[in-house]
Amino acid sequence: MDAPYAKLEAIEPGIARVLAHNPSAFTYYGTQTYLVGEQEVAVVDPGPGLPEHLDALEQAIGGRTVAAILCTHTHRDHSPAARPLAERVGAPIVGCAALALETVGPRADAAFDGDYLPDRVLEDGEALEIDGKTMTAVATPGHTSNHLCFAYQGALFSGDHVMGCSTTVVVPPDGDMAAYMASLDKLRQREDRVYYPAHGPAVTNPAQYVRHLMGHRMQREKQILKLVGEQPRGIPDIVANAYPGLDPRLITAAGGSVLAHLLDLERRGLVVHDGERWTAA
Ligand SMILES: [Zn+2]
Repeated sequence: MDAPYAKLEAIEPGIARVLAHNPSAFTYYGTQTYLVGEQEVAVVDPGPGLPEHLDALEQAIGGRTVAAILCTHTHRDHSPAARPLAERVGAPIVGCAALALETVGPRADAAFDGDYLPDRVLEDGEALEIDGKTMTAVATPGHTSNHLCFAYQGALFSGDHVMGCSTTVVVPPDGDMAAYMASLDKLRQREDRVYYPAHGPAVTNPAQYVRHLMGHRMQREKQILKLVGEQPRGIPDIVANAYPGLDPRLITAAGGSVLAHLLDLERRGLVVHDGERWTAA
């Protein structure tokens, strides 16, 4: 694919980006790692542990002090480069919590980086100083239970919570639709001027875009309620009806997203299920 892999792209004063070479149906052209700051830098979402990506980051850092390596969450396309980069540049890993894999076993699917080990976990609203300016964690569970966005000078590094290229995958057991909607609502009440997501282009109209995303999920929910109101249905049947013409590589994720909606609707007393078949309550 023709994309600026391993190149340092300046985005605005104090913010630059390096694209990792891990394109897929879920990552668009790949994971975008951000360098924040000028004299001193922070690295947001170091990305997959690809040697060429680590080399490109080290070169982009160019001997400057790295105040922190920040991870929005621990999917394998975001956090595995944290430890090797920390070793190369001598920086702490700060940001989202590790998932407690032993105690919540089923949450630990293959998409998770089970080796992620932060030096410091940021709670919602906790701040760090980067190059004399403030970087603040904004807890945004939903895509994963440990997801954080990071706010800096009116920009929000939105990770996978809000992406510039497609809707976010929300798949149980770790993904939670009610939490995701609440996290969108939390962003709606902020006044960030731009979002820099881990995948896809910058979002330059955040308020409008977040309202659009919330509307999209509410439409999807309505559609699912209508389908299970007609007759009891299994998830594949709901996916076939609700996502006509879907890229076959995304059918599993769509099924996960439908399940996330159904579990949320079940908690709200609007649907019930008998084994695999769901129906309106
Ligand atoms: Zn992710």
